[in-house]
Amino acid sequence: MGLFGKKNSGNSSRADLSYGDYKGFNQLYAILIAQIDGIIITFNDLFSVHFGYQLAEFDGNLPGIVQLGIVSKETYSAIYTSIQLSEAYSTELQIKTKRGEMATYKLKAAPLPDNKFLLVFDPVRKEKTIVEDANESNKLFMELINQMPDIICFKDGFGKWLLANTADLNLFQLKGVNYVGKTDADLAPFTHEVYRQAFLNCMETDEKCWNEKVISRGDEIIPTPAGEQIMFDVFKIPVFNADGSRKNLIVIGRDVTEHRKTENDLLLAKQKAEESDRLKSAFLATMSHELRTPLNAIIGFATLIFEEEDLSDIREFSRIINNNSNVLLNLIEDIFDISLIEAQQMQIEHHKFDIVKTANEVLEIFPHEIHILDKLDIDLRNLISEKEVFASGDVYRVKQILTNLISNALKFTIKGQVLLKMNNHPDHVEIEIEDTGIGIAPDKIDFIFQMFQQVEEGSKRKYGGAGLGLSISKQLAVFMGGDIKVKSELGKGSVFTLILPKSVKTE
Ligand code: ADP
Repeated sequence: MGLFGKKNSGNSSRADLSYGDYKGFNQLYAILIAQIDGIIITFNDLFSVHFGYQLAEFDGNLPGIVQLGIVSKETYSAIYTSIQLSEAYSTELQIKTKRGEMATYKLKAAPLPDNKFLLVFDPVRKEKTIVEDANESNKLFMELINQMPDIICFKDGFGKWLLANTADLNLFQLKGVNYVGKTDADLAPFTHEVYRQAFLNCMETDEKCWNEKVISRGDEIIPTPAGEQIMFDVFKIPVFNADGSRKNLIVIGRDVTEHRKTENDLLLAKQKAEESDRLKSAFLATMSHELRTPLNAIIGFATLIFEEEDLSDIREFSRIINNNSNVLLNLIEDIFDISLIEAQQMQIEHHKFDIVKTANEVLEIFPHEIHILDKLDIDLRNLISEKEVFASGDVYRVKQILTNLISNALKFTIKGQVLLKMNNHPDHVEIEIEDTGIGIAPDKIDFIFQMFQQVEEGSKRKYGGAGLGLSISKQLAVFMGGDIKVKSELGKGSVFTLILPKSVKTE
């Protein structure tokens, strides 16, 4: 077994095997063998590891140790002198590796037979001082916490800041402020005013965390000077001394604004999906009831008419058939309107028309309706005194809305009054339909304008209707540039107001 794994193939006789058993030595140190004239004969693998040179790269023509840059001329000359005297030589020197790094080595030169010598390189590891070690750890630690995107703040047991990372200082605009030893309240004046409340809130949650003696976690909203709100998922970690007194509080917060927004969107989407599922079931239940009731009446009385001979009964049966056919027709028209609105295919005309004339025309059908609906106890009165007032919209659709609002007023009023009033404003006109009916609870006011929404489950049975009229009416009014508003008091009555613009809407 040779001294080194690789031989200088250019002069194999130089790779002498008779230098004794250097095996262990060979694994411990970088070793080089050279001729007395300084030309390198060979070096070991550790030499390659330390200095970066490979035997193979010289292709058998190894340079001198000075040429390679391993030792200076002066050192070589000192080595040469010692070797000539058959003495060992030792020194400490800086060596530049092939990679350009400088490193300190203890160099030992020992003469070998045949005018050769051996160089042993022992790296000098500079012992670090405790201070250097501590500085290095501190640097590493600061590097670590300052690179963290999370905000980190260490406080002492009295809430005074000890250390805050860059993210924390950036967030609260405290860069350059000497925060050490200051509490949140002390620091509040140094930060932007939007953060002041957050600082005071933070002191409260810190105190809560100390009292509960466990790691606390919760979302905290931090406003920004730009008017945004950032949501932080904040951990507070209380650390106690052995005697139970307060030592440190570590506050770590992560910006979860986007995350929470996504969660919220998903939740809303889920609620919407559940709601539309519920509405679908409600639609099917309502529709089957609303279709079956008039159809049963039509089929039943149509059968009876055949057998009936009394003319007045036949007239009554045909009135019932006619009435129920109209209910069916209205329902089908409502469904048709809803599908047009949903498909954004509803065509609305915008032109000037006389709203007083239109309201009167609508009212003309109601004495007949009151009779059919058996609402003879209700006093339906038109209090509109103006001769003519021009509004903008689609007359056909305005009539539909007014018919719906007056029908509802009659439907949900047992006895009393249904009044039609008008408020004429410079840029818009309001038609009010006021009733003394059952009224609507405040929490249901917005809800009744949604499709298939009826105040009470039972009201469907009691009053009939599919819950589409107001939803259609409101959307039609909005298409015309107007709106429908409602004021109501439970048990006292309601006022539905149709608002229409006076100037023609241009799209
Ligand atoms: P429908 O009358 O077919 O139920 P609408 O959409 O017209 O559907 O009305 C929705 C719901 O609003 C009604 O079921 C009722 O609960 C409530 N509502 C509408 N108008 C009145 C009113 N004048 N008085 C009391 N409640 C009303």
